[in-house]
Amino acid sequence: MKAILIEKTDNEQIVLLANVDDARLPDGDVLVDVAYSTINYKDALAITGQAPVVRRFPMIPGIDFTGTVAESSHPEFKSGDRVILNGWGVGETHWGGLAERARVKGEWLVPLPDGIDLRQAAAVGTAGYTAALCVQALERHGITPEKGEIVISGAAGGVGSVATALLATKGYAVTAVTGRTSETTYLRELGAASVIDRAELTGRVKALGKERWAGGIDVAGSTVLANMISMMNYGGVIAACGLAAGMDLPASVAPFILRGVTLAGVDSVMCPKPDRLEAWSLLASDLDLNKLESMVTTVPLSEVIEAAPKFLDGAVRGRLVVPVAG
Ligand code: NDP
Repeated sequence: MKAILIEKTDNEQIVLLANVDDARLPDGDVLVDVAYSTINYKDALAITGQAPVVRRFPMIPGIDFTGTVAESSHPEFKSGDRVILNGWGVGETHWGGLAERARVKGEWLVPLPDGIDLRQAAAVGTAGYTAALCVQALERHGITPEKGEIVISGAAGGVGSVATALLATKGYAVTAVTGRTSETTYLRELGAASVIDRAELTGRVKALGKERWAGGIDVAGSTVLANMISMMNYGGVIAACGLAAGMDLPASVAPFILRGVTLAGVDSVMCPKPDRLEAWSLLASDLDLNKLESMVTTVPLSEVIEAAPKFLDGAVRGRLVVPVAG
């Protein structure tokens, strides 16, 4: 099978498009013919070697894929079933989706929901499913459209684009934050009620700023998240899932103890199956597929290695989908 392979010598990481013998696939009770994989932020880190995402070598990257079951000894799946995989260490400790075949544990798989096809589910991918987990977190903490506006950082990226479209369809007024104001038209077409420059959230963090938003979805961390926290309305909730700006959080406790603000952490990798199923069902019912299409750029498997660094420059809009089936 064709696959992207990351190998490590003493000091160097080598990444190549290789022909790999299927017999080398790792253990698992379901073999999947991969139809599509995608490039997520974490895949870009793995492929460029800019962060220690890969914990075992050689590794096939690709933290997500969609495809059709070829063989299964797992009771919930049979040959011909269409499935989605997101996370579980795939592409980090277990061979991933940027290959024509993948062998995984059946318990990691989610059946393709009705109403979307394999390409659309890949376009959603881990970024979009994480956006849905963030929406779920806001709603579980009682945030409704009537409570006020929702701010989304990194709005032109993968998580941000899907979050913007999803919340707009659900009737929320979205403030999209972007470092690329050239993407204002794109963000408005996704449904953002307003678009603001990221610079508004990168200045000195006040203990308490002017109250602006009822909720937030943050992919950035660091000063961006700290400023968002300081600007939440009384009782506001932020779902935090990313670190595009940094891993630190230079915030004050004041918004938590004086305004009852909640910071809800979101992890997609080890997220339990019931929450995954709920997130995918939300995506299947509430994500506008025309808006999803406007987020997609197709990258052939042969161009994945050169596409990955662009991610880390913040130059990718929406989602990169990789058709894998030969
Ligand atoms: P993308 O690269 O598609 O989007 C990230 C966006 O963040 C960029 O497009 C850019 O948007 C913005 N950005 C880039 N640099 C900075 C910066 N220095 N400060 C503030 N904003 C910045 O990545 P994804 O959407 O796929 O992922 C976003 C983040 O979420 C990543 O950190 C990723 O690791 C994390 N993530 C976490 C998951 C989890 O399970 N917790 C799952 C999936 C992703 P713009 O130009 O519009 O500002």
